[in-house]
Amino acid sequence: MTEVSKLDWRTLIKAAPETPPETITALDKYFEPFAQPALKMVNDKPDLGDQPCLKCDEPQTGLLASMFGKGGFTWGLAHGEGHCRNCHWPARAYHFIKHEDGSDLCTLRGVILQYHPDYVTERKTDAA
Ligand SMILES: [Zn+2]
Repeated sequence: MTEVSKLDWRTLIKAAPETPPETITALDKYFEPFAQPALKMVNDKPDLGDQPCLKCDEPQTGLLASMFGKGGFTWGLAHGEGHCRNCHWPARAYHFIKHEDGSDLCTLRGVILQYHPDYVTERKTDAA
């Protein structure tokens, strides 16, 4: 596996200059376990493209994943969680982000973020 950076959520979400520091802290905390996806700029907006898997490089979304069954994000049992169909690397696609007091901050749906290797413990026995 190549070196993977931790996600900088500022590459995905634009925080307004007046965003309170506690909101920034909550976002920092929430996004900490995720890896930085490769972003392309499309019409001046960051675009996740078909999101090659950080472990096996198979696309997580898009035409290749959906039509040809290569890679692809597969839903897991836990709500919003899933994994790469090819190598089972874990990811989350629904993000329910909360303030420190538990109130809702924001929700991102359908944004597949793979976990950073620091936060993944591989099982010793792999059924595949
Ligand atoms: Zn994979």
